Amino acid sequence: MMTNAEIVTASGLNGPFDPGRVRLDFPIFRELVNGKPLIYLDNAATTQKPQAVLDAISDYYTHRCSSVHRGVYFLSEQATASFEDARRIICTFINAASPREIVFVRGATEAINLVSQTYGRTHIGTGDEILISALEHHSDIVPWQILCQEKGAKLRVVPVTPAGEFDFDQYQMLLGPKTRLVAVTHVSNALGTVNPVEKIIRLAHQQNTPVLVDGAQSIPHMSVDVQSLDCDFLAFSGHKMYGPTGIGVLYGKERLLDDMPPYHGGGDMIRSVTFEKTVYAELPYKFEAGTPNVAGAIGLGAAVEYVRSIGMQNIFSHEQALLAYGALALEKVDRLRIIGKAKEKAGVISFVLDSVHPHDIGTILDAQGIAIRTGTLCAQPVMDFFKIPATARISFGVYNTRDDIDALLEGLLRVKEVFC
Ligand code: PMP
Repeated sequence: MMTNAEIVTASGLNGPFDPGRVRLDFPIFRELVNGKPLIYLDNAATTQKPQAVLDAISDYYTHRCSSVHRGVYFLSEQATASFEDARRIICTFINAASPREIVFVRGATEAINLVSQTYGRTHIGTGDEILISALEHHSDIVPWQILCQEKGAKLRVVPVTPAGEFDFDQYQMLLGPKTRLVAVTHVSNALGTVNPVEKIIRLAHQQNTPVLVDGAQSIPHMSVDVQSLDCDFLAFSGHKMYGPTGIGVLYGKERLLDDMPPYHGGGDMIRSVTFEKTVYAELPYKFEAGTPNVAGAIGLGAAVEYVRSIGMQNIFSHEQALLAYGALALEKVDRLRIIGKAKEKAGVISFVLDSVHPHDIGTILDAQGIAIRTGTLCAQPVMDFFKIPATARISFGVYNTRDDIDALLEGLLRVKEVFC
């Protein structure tokens, strides 16, 4: 039986960072797709899983499968210990003040809905404003629209500049005495823009407005320290950082979480229940009703250990180098236009190619074993802003190499042969 601390990787042990060695940790790269080696460039949608994560999940189901927090028997104690270890690992990873601030949820989407339905419902009323940005993923738009409809509040939107950057001047104008919450993505999944969240938070805090940061696209790619950012809430998903699907995290400042009503009711989130009155459990269990995703949490803990073994700085530098190489190479492709040219970007490049529909680009590339994302990327307002129906998007992970980008360029030549 493995403990979280025993999970080792081929890549992180000794020597300098080498994406070629990292690749060996991921069994999927031994697969052929359409008879070709897999080139996976859709990491903003989800990431592949290293053997360490697969082993951690299988280890739980093979050796410790049981429910947590309730059993007095050996297996349940072991499972509970691993589950709570994972919470502590995540707490350290984002530098939260306490594991009480780490709530397990299904993913970033559920984390944001949790805040909107608990904090939002109790703190936002008629005439109040919620401020988001035009760069948000649908999951940081729709939950606030639902809340605004219910409460008679108003959703206000900070626009983007033509380069695809958060318009800070407009933010300063829009942030006002009626703003009860700011919700903003750290990194845009559609364009890769890195938003100046530290500055955004500082300004909001000058008037005591809390800030939710959607960290779905930042947590896997750069160091995020919630205490130095001073964000009030942070949402992210495990599957975008080499962990399993169906698990994610809501970080919240303890003071705020303590004050919020529960989200779902049920087992595990209570201290006592009678028909007259229920007393809720302490944090973070107050927000974790029902049997949790134990395997998911353990897998996410293993994923965090995995990226830490490589080093977030190594991951960041590697992906920045790929971004620079990829952008330069794509810019040279005739009739290709990169959408979103922010000065600060993460490893995401969206583009359109002449009048070829992005789905056609994706299909031709797929025949060559190259996986990219095409469509509106769950960010329709971004498409509307740039007046395009959809884009093609590549997004990097720790295992991508320059060879992947070279193969993409060859694939794009094939697209042009067919369509242009
Ligand atoms: N926010 C951003 C910026 C995202 O990219 C995504 C996923 N594409 C989400 C939120 C939602 O994540 P999930 O679907 O894992 O809940």
